[in-house]
Amino acid sequence: MGKIMSIANQKGGVGKTTSSVNLSACLAYLGNKVLLVDIDPQGNATSGVGINKADMNQCIYNVLVEDLPAAEVCVPTSVENLDIIPATIQLAGAEIELVPTISREIRLKKALDEVRDRYDYIIIDCPPSLGLLTLNALTSSDSVLIPVQCEYYALEGLSQLLNTIRLVQKHLNRDLMIEGVLLTMLDARTNLGIQVIEEVKKYFQDKVYNSIIPRNVRLGEAPSYGQPIITYDPKSKGAEVYLELAKEVMANGTRVG
Ligand code: ADP
Ligand code: MG
Repeated sequence: MGKIMSIANQKGGVGKTTSSVNLSACLAYLGNKVLLVDIDPQGNATSGVGINKADMNQCIYNVLVEDLPAAEVCVPTSVENLDIIPATIQLAGAEIELVPTISREIRLKKALDEVRDRYDYIIIDCPPSLGLLTLNALTSSDSVLIPVQCEYYALEGLSQLLNTIRLVQKHLNRDLMIEGVLLTMLDARTNLGIQVIEEVKKYFQDKVYNSIIPRNVRLGEAPSYGQPIITYDPKSKGAEVYLELAKEVMANGTRVG
């Protein structure tokens, strides 16, 4: 059974999608069977692995709202060992359409449980909110990986996320753990970065990954070529650090139970 991890933070632009795509691709590169699940209506993870959203007749929306089996929506990507369940703009309606439905918080869990034994890792790229889509992700997951951008007020807003995690633990998924905290977009030229690292480490202690993602031009460019960094520019600093992160994640255990 594969380990299911949500990549979540209700702040936008902190590196959730970049980390979902590149951690998934690096885990696949290291020989794991990986499924990336895009549950952000913006579909950036989907286009980030080279899937043309306009060509998709069905996506995670049909799984969540219409009970389509997850296996019918999984598509292979250009990266060996990496599949994706894509998101299209159709998913934008799901947050509201799910409200009156039965077991609305556990729909993703039910769907992923059906495909879980085919993968070593299932990684869910969450939208920038703490609504029903993120709740579905947290309810499905063994753990949550929290990207934190190296900037002023890095910790601000995280209490809301931690509170949501506690509520999910209490009511929906007792076993949910914090997988790790990933510092992203570090600008090595400033002292600010160092201060933020210290502050985040003080708060999250050994949950903080040793791998810290630098601000890297190639990482920012790769999505527009529909490629993860490991194929777009395998020699870049971004590729090197996401590969290190993948090794740290693997060292933390492949599966539960
Ligand atoms: P989120 O999913 O949390 O909204 P993204 O991963 O989409 O955040 O990142 C926001 C923007 O910053 C994107 O344009 C992305 O390409 C860029 N970006 C993310 N991480 C880096 C990085 N380490 N270096 C340079 N650009 C980055
Ligand atoms: Mg995103």
